[in-house]
Amino acid sequence: MQKLIGKSSYKRDTCRACGSSNLDLVFYHEATPLGEEYISEKKTQEHYPVDVFICNNCNLLQLREVVNPEILYKDYFYVTSLSLGLVKHFEDYAESLLKKIPIPENSLIVDIGSNDGVLLKAFKEKNMKILGVDPATEIARKATEQGLETIPDFFTPKLALEIKEKYGQAKIITANNVLANVDNLKEIIEAVKILMAPDGVFIVEAASSLDIIQNTIIDNIYHEHLSYFSAKSFQNFFNLYDLELIDIERTHMKGGSLRAFAQFKQGPYKKSTSVNELIVLEESMGLYDKNRILFKNFNKRVADERERLIRILSKLKSQGKTIAGFGASVGATVILYNLGIGEFIDFIFDDYKPKQFLFSPGFNIPTFPSEKIYTDKPDYIVNLAWRYAEPIIKKHQKFIENGGKFITPFSRIGE
Ligand SMILES: [Zn+2]
Repeated sequence: MQKLIGKSSYKRDTCRACGSSNLDLVFYHEATPLGEEYISEKKTQEHYPVDVFICNNCNLLQLREVVNPEILYKDYFYVTSLSLGLVKHFEDYAESLLKKIPIPENSLIVDIGSNDGVLLKAFKEKNMKILGVDPATEIARKATEQGLETIPDFFTPKLALEIKEKYGQAKIITANNVLANVDNLKEIIEAVKILMAPDGVFIVEAASSLDIIQNTIIDNIYHEHLSYFSAKSFQNFFNLYDLELIDIERTHMKGGSLRAFAQFKQGPYKKSTSVNELIVLEESMGLYDKNRILFKNFNKRVADERERLIRILSKLKSQGKTIAGFGASVGATVILYNLGIGEFIDFIFDDYKPKQFLFSPGFNIPTFPSEKIYTDKPDYIVNLAWRYAEPIIKKHQKFIENGGKFITPFSRIGE
């Protein structure tokens, strides 16, 4: 394993799941600064590659470039409960999980990457013993204060052993949007195996590579997301560590996610037909086809959209129009770079206060609250958060009534 000392990123030579060096480049993405690195003063920012590879041995889709987590997460302030849709999501999640895995009350459930404890709270209300693990010290402290005990640390084999000694084994271990962000998968799986009861279940939620490709969700591909799982890559991965993928669900989270259930081999649960069904679907869509036609089509859709947007925006610019963007997110950075439109955008609006009055990563475009749409009156707004175009346009009907126009990537709105 390469060392991070004195460097802000390194490039892996091998697959992070199985160690194979048989990796094919499937998407070339523009190198970008860290997508969340909105800054208070203009400056030149470091750019890191975001090329995506597929492992020919275990089928995991992945980035090879790994940015030092201490740099990547240094300003991490994202609190789960702030996203309103997520609270309901986690309540439903706890409910459906306990239906599927009927464990007695007071069983231990551990959530890795538990954030502000929104999922732990849902399990606690179902009379379970709960424990969270999250390295974001301040968020962990607040969760603990609210009765949702959270250890402010990374989940390692050493910590797993300490938890086991103090609290016993866990009947359920959950990790939502954690595994895909970790380079050292071996370490986290070994920790899970130490803490999990022999009849326990490990549940992982991660973005689905098939959904990303089918729906051209390029804005989900960025430095934090090191791995993009599928049913087949999950099965191969768990198998490598003497675990068994027993069930898999597709959810609508983040444009399409997978929820994978694993137990120890020879564990008590019967393997659901969902696993093979999804693998068959993935194969029929060409996800593992060596001709890579599925990926070539994805790349062509992105290239066509880039050409279309550049054509529209350069024409508007030559007519002296003002063009703004909406949405100062990590995804916006990907869109600005990979659709080639960063240089056309004069400013960006966002409703989220911590993202206002800053400069965007790389292009250093100033960000403002969305009320300013009505005082600055841009001629056009590009929906950088294109998957949420509908509610954004609905909320800003007045902008349209005043003669403004929205342009939405991957749609014909605004033409
Ligand atoms: Zn592999």
